[in-house]
Amino acid sequence: MFSTPTGLPRVGRFEPVLNHIAEEVSSLTDRGRPADYIPLLAKADPQRFGMAVAEVDGTVYGVGDWRHPFSAQSITKVFTLALALSLGGERLWQGVGREPSGNPFNSLVQLEHENGIPRNPFINAGALVVTDRLQSLTSDAAGQVLELLRAESGNPGIDFMPEVAACEASYGGRNAALAHFMASYGNLLTPVPGLLAAYFWQCSIVASCKDLALAAGFLARHGTRANGSTLLSKSQAKQINAMMLTCGTYDAAGDFAYRVGLPGKSGVGGGIIAVVPGVCTLCVWGPGLDRHGNSVAGVLALDRFTTLTGLSVF
Ligand code: GLN
Repeated sequence: MFSTPTGLPRVGRFEPVLNHIAEEVSSLTDRGRPADYIPLLAKADPQRFGMAVAEVDGTVYGVGDWRHPFSAQSITKVFTLALALSLGGERLWQGVGREPSGNPFNSLVQLEHENGIPRNPFINAGALVVTDRLQSLTSDAAGQVLELLRAESGNPGIDFMPEVAACEASYGGRNAALAHFMASYGNLLTPVPGLLAAYFWQCSIVASCKDLALAAGFLARHGTRANGSTLLSKSQAKQINAMMLTCGTYDAAGDFAYRVGLPGKSGVGGGIIAVVPGVCTLCVWGPGLDRHGNSVAGVLALDRFTTLTGLSVF
């Protein structure tokens, strides 16, 4: 129904497809349930939906609640990884693997079998290692992630949400267990309490689809930041995209790759970012989650986007 956007006139080229998708999503009856491990997320309305597309030149399109800030949660793990790789390089991989886990994002079991080395940077254990390395390099991992998001999105209003950070800490027993367990294997460089605080602050960042689609632009620009400087080498950007494809949507990454065919990273706040290398970045938000923790409306919207436009990495 829609021709490939690269063949359409420049002005408004993604608008028809976004409007079409929003209409399809509006008739979705079962949207899953918001995350309920902290009360603040459980209150979100599953009927809300937003979607933004940012082209590599920073032109941005959106539909629905695309300017509405939501809890970015694990989407921030992509930005922490980008900074840790940019500043610390390859030695990161001594402490975290690059394989899909096939387990829930907060699982403890695999860690013992694998001697405290988490499977990948996007499950909680792996993200804790990445935050630890960034913390050891900068002493303010969460602040660095926030700065990167602000700079790349051009929105200085993106911020932490202290109430969410506090809730994460008070319900954070499992993340604390993961951190202490890895520390017992000698796989953390910084003290556990400070690391957990940095991780919870990072999870609490609130941003909109517009902000996050723009902020992820360096992944579609092969590592180049919005101001033209280099955050990652071409090869590092490719590596992060590959890892998003294989590990970015938890134990549903295979199904996401099948349906959407793009590198993606979800968060339990109901957001998902996705990358069409060389073309654009996307962010969708719908707070209702499936049993893996991925937004039901979000996965559907991305599935429809790649189907209708033909834009995919395959
Ligand atoms: N704050 C959440 C946690 O650490 C983030 C999880 C997620 O978005 N998958 O449990």
